[in-house]
Amino acid sequence: MARSMNCPKCDADISESYEPDDWSCGISEGWYCDDCDLGVAGWEHPCEPLEGDVFIAPSAPAEPLGTPISELAGRPDGTRDGDRKHAEFVRIAKSWGFD
Ligand SMILES: [Zn+2]
Repeated sequence: MARSMNCPKCDADISESYEPDDWSCGISEGWYCDDCDLGVAGWEHPCEPLEGDVFIAPSAPAEPLGTPISELAGRPDGTRDGDRKHAEFVRIAKSWGFD
């Protein structure tokens, strides 16, 4: 999607002049104002994060199933909660191929 851009010099709408990267010609993406003979490089105007963008955190490899480590227990501690955590740990360990 083309971004809108106004010429920094004459403030004309130069959105239509947008050209993507073309390395075969040695041009980087950007806009061009014919009136001012002025190029505007795309990298000088990085995309602003849009409202509603969702930041997706990279998933940690230690938590392949999205279970917080605090919810896991390597061995039961005698409590019901501990048993549950241990059962969850065993379930996940099995999914990794351990028994
Ligand atoms: Zn201009």
